[in-house]
Amino acid sequence: MNPRMSDTGKLVVISGPSGAGKSTVISRVMNSDPNVTFSISATTRSPRQGETDGVEYIFMDKLRFEKMIAGGEFLEYAKYVNNYYGTPAAPVRESIAAGKDVVFDIEVQGAMQIKNRCPNAILVFIVPSSFAELERRLRARGTDSEEVINQRIQTARTEYLMVPNYDYIVINDDPDQAAYEIKSIITAEKCRFSDRKKYLTEVCQL
Ligand code: ADP
Ligand code: 5GP
Repeated sequence: MNPRMSDTGKLVVISGPSGAGKSTVISRVMNSDPNVTFSISATTRSPRQGETDGVEYIFMDKLRFEKMIAGGEFLEYAKYVNNYYGTPAAPVRESIAAGKDVVFDIEVQGAMQIKNRCPNAILVFIVPSSFAELERRLRARGTDSEEVINQRIQTARTEYLMVPNYDYIVINDDPDQAAYEIKSIITAEKCRFSDRKKYLTEVCQL
């Protein structure tokens, strides 16, 4: 038996300013590692062109979102630029029970809620190479109005203040390198003494 099969799945929270490249990098991590699953968030924001309900997000109206809040169905939720975003708890529990690593793409308020509820979660903050590059990417992506882009840039400035609460910083000047760094973080976290000490008795029979 491969002893790594019994490694415990990790919760990996990825935050960073809008346009930093979180979605781009996360999809590269997932394409190269079948053990990684993505936590599909619920949101009240409208789908962008090319987004499919149930793939990038579960899109819903405010009423349904607020019912889910009242029903305690979210692991965390927050308001970001006038919309609700939240993580449904049930799929995360199922993935962890199946030994999967779960990657979350969530903003800083939600990340802090996960850190409080799940102290073993790994918190990674993705940054672009510069603020000017962030603005360039947001405009080049072409998915948001000028007003929304400006709100996202303003929000980014306050998000940066939260970086000291994170465990790792990944610089996304190259998405392949950034994905490699995230995979390396997950690998290193699985090798921690606290996680692997079980092998001293179970595998090594010491
Ligand atoms: P986020 O999910 O953080 O909002 P996206 O993944 O949507 O960001 O990326 C924002 C834009 O920047 C997209 O158009 C994407 O193709 C582009 N992008 C992502 N990473 C890089 C990179 N390292 N260099 C240049 N452009 C990038
Ligand atoms: P976007 O509208 O660009 O897809 O996402 C806007 C912001 O919401 C990003 O910072 C993204 O990380 C965050 N976000 C996405 N899903 C969730 C979620 O479930 N919870 C929280 N708190 N933030 C989320």
